[in-house]
Amino acid sequence: MPNSSVSPQISFQSSEPIKEIEILWISAGLSCDGDTIAMTGATQPSIEDILLGAIPGIPKVKLHNAFLSKEVGDDFLQNFHLAAEGKFAPFILVVEGSIPDEHNKQEGYWAALGTDKTTGQPITTCEWIDRLTPHAWVVVAAGTCSAYGGIHAMAGNPTGCMGLADYLGWKWKSKAGIPIVNVPGCPVQPDNFMETLLYLLYQAVGLAPMIPLDEQLRPTWLFGATVHEGCDRGGYYEQAEFADEYGSPLCIVKLGCWGPVVQCNVGKRGWMAGIGGCPNVGGICIGCTMPGFPDKFMPFMNQPPGSLLSSHAVATYGKAIHALRKFTQTSLNKEPSWRRRKT
Ligand code: SF4
Ligand code: SF4
Repeated sequence: MPNSSVSPQISFQSSEPIKEIEILWISAGLSCDGDTIAMTGATQPSIEDILLGAIPGIPKVKLHNAFLSKEVGDDFLQNFHLAAEGKFAPFILVVEGSIPDEHNKQEGYWAALGTDKTTGQPITTCEWIDRLTPHAWVVVAAGTCSAYGGIHAMAGNPTGCMGLADYLGWKWKSKAGIPIVNVPGCPVQPDNFMETLLYLLYQAVGLAPMIPLDEQLRPTWLFGATVHEGCDRGGYYEQAEFADEYGSPLCIVKLGCWGPVVQCNVGKRGWMAGIGGCPNVGGICIGCTMPGFPDKFMPFMNQPPGSLLSSHAVATYGKAIHALRKFTQTSLNKEPSWRRRKT
C-alpha cells in the first residue's frame, strides 16, 4: 500500500495556466551524471516528445542541461543568472546529485557550477540552490543522490552531503505551493522521471491536480508497490524455488535480493522500452530507490537478514504447494479421454 500522502486533496490550481516553461537542470551536485544520461533513454514519454511539442495540452518546454544544451560556458549560465534574479519565470528546477555541506571545512568547496564574474570565484552548487529555489515553480530531485543523499552520503564521507529535502527542509514548498518532488533511483528509471515531469507539465496548465506524493516525497503511483510485487520471479519465490548461484531463472533472494521490501516499479516497468528491470534480468535488488540506500543494504551480496526468516517460512508450504501443482499440471497436460478416436 502507498504511504500516506503529503498532498491528498484533489485541488486544481487556480492561477493562470502556464503557456511556456523552462527547465533548469543542475547536475553539479555530487553525482555521476547518470540521471541525465538515463533520462535520454526514456520512451514514455521521451525527452524529444516533450521538447518538440508532440504531446498535446502541455506548455512549450525548453531544457537547459549542461550535457544536452547547445549553449556552453557563459551563454549556458546566463539563463541560470536570469532565473536567480527572478527574470526567467516560470521554470522547473531539476537538481541532480547530493548537496554538500560547504560549512564543514576551513577552505575550498565541494561542488560548483561556473564562476562569479566579479570575484572570479566558483559559484557553489549550494549557492545556486539558495538563489534559484525561491523563484522555481517546482523543484524536482532527479535520482537518489539528490533525493536522499545516495552513495555520496554514506557514513564516513567527508563532504557531509545530503538530499535536497534535508538541505531545504522536508516541509519546503515552491512559490506555487508544491513540495519538493523526489524521483529516486540510482540512476533514476528513465520513464519514472519523464512521467513525473509530464504530470507536472499537465499540472502547470491546470489539467492535473496537485501531484500526489508519499511521506518521502515520491510520486505515489510510481513508488507505492515493492519490486517483489512486480517481479517476473515472484512465482518461483512463492514456490520456494531459490537460486543458489547466478544464471538461474529462479528467485534470487538468497543471493541478496531486497525486492520484497523495496519500493520500486522497475520489476514491472523494466528499464528501457519495457526491457530489463534488475531482478527480471538476474540482478539482485540493492534498494537503490530507498532513503536508507546504500548503508542499510550493505553488504550487497549477502542474503537480507529478514529474508532468512521469510524464505524459510515460504519453504514450509511452497514446496508442498509446488508438488500439488505438478500433480494437477500433469492431469491438465492430458486431453479429456473422450477426445480419442474410437475407430
Ligand atoms: S528475485 Fe527478488 S523481487 Fe524477484 S521474486 Fe525473488 S525476492 Fe522477490
Ligand atoms: S529493482 Fe532495486 S536495484 Fe533495481 S532500480 Fe529498483 S530499487 Fe534499484
